[in-house]
Amino acid sequence: MQREHAAPVPKRYSTVMDKSIAAALDLPPLEKGWVWLVGAGPGDPGLITALGLKAITEADYILYDALVDDRLLALAKKSVGLIFAGKRAGVKSCKQSDISSLLVDLAKKANRVLRLKGGDPFVFGRGGEEAGALASARIPFRIVPGITAGIGGLAYAGIPVTHRDTNHSVTFITGHGSDGKLPRLNWQAVGKGSETLVFYMARKYAGEIATALIAAGRNANEPAAIIANAARQGQSVIVTDLAGLGAAAEKAPALSIIVVGENVRLRDDLDWLGRKTRAFNPA
Ligand code: SAH
Repeated sequence: MQREHAAPVPKRYSTVMDKSIAAALDLPPLEKGWVWLVGAGPGDPGLITALGLKAITEADYILYDALVDDRLLALAKKSVGLIFAGKRAGVKSCKQSDISSLLVDLAKKANRVLRLKGGDPFVFGRGGEEAGALASARIPFRIVPGITAGIGGLAYAGIPVTHRDTNHSVTFITGHGSDGKLPRLNWQAVGKGSETLVFYMARKYAGEIATALIAAGRNANEPAAIIANAARQGQSVIVTDLAGLGAAAEKAPALSIIVVGENVRLRDDLDWLGRKTRAFNPA
C-alpha cells in the first residue's frame, strides 16, 4: 500500500463547504465509522457533486485515485490523512484487496472515510468491488455517483451522448479486460447493438476494435472521435473515422475516451469549449 501524493497538494483552504448550502439541500453528514464511495467526475473539479464536496471537507481519511484533481484535495481538513490509492505509470499499483481492507480497517476505527475516484465509482472503476468488501464486513457505506468520462468527457468535446437525429442507444465498453487484453466480446453483437459505442481504456487496441467493428458490418467511414484528457488541462479531440481510428489512436495521449457513431458529427456545431478558447465572439 503506498502512502504518497500523486503531486504536491496545493495550499489548503480554511473554508469548508458553506453550511447553508448543505442545510438547504438537506445533505447528510459523513458519519464516523462510515465509508463514502464518491465519484469526482472526469477532471474539471467543478464537476464534483455537492455531496462529494461535503464529504471532502468532513473526511478523516481520503483514499484518492490518480485522476482526482489536487484542488479538490486542498479542500480537506488540515488533519486529514491523504492516501494515494491509484495507479500511475511506472509505479506499482496498489492491490485492490489492500485498498478494500484499508477502507474496512479505517472505518472500524471509527474514522470518517472517503474513497474518492475519478468519474463515477461504479463505471469501470472497481467501486462495486470495494462496496462488496464493505458490505461483507458490515461497514455502513454510501455511494455518491459522479459524472463518468464516457458522458461528461463527450459533453466537454461538444458531442451529445445521445441525440434524436443520430442515436437512440449507446453502449459503454471497456477495451481492457481483467487480464490486460482486449475483452472477448461478441463483436458482431456489439457492432449491431447500438448506434453509438463509447470505449474506455481502449487506446491500445483501437485498431483491433475498429477492424472487428468493420467486420461486424459497421461502415469504415463512420465518424469516430478520440477525446483525450477530457475536462482536464490539455483536453484534445481527434475526429477521424473507423478506418483511421487505429492510426489516430497511436498519436493520442494515454488518457482517452473513444466514441464511434454519427453523433460525433454534432461536434461541428456544438464544440462550445473550442469556441470559448478561440475567443468566440459572435459580433
Ligand atoms: N470510473 C471512471 C472510469 C475509470 S476507467 C469514469 O467513470 O469515468 C479509466 C478510463 O476512463 C481511462 O483509461 C479513460 O479511458 C477514461 N477516462 C477517465 N477520465 C478521463 C478523462 N478525463 N479523459 C479521457 N478519458 C478518461
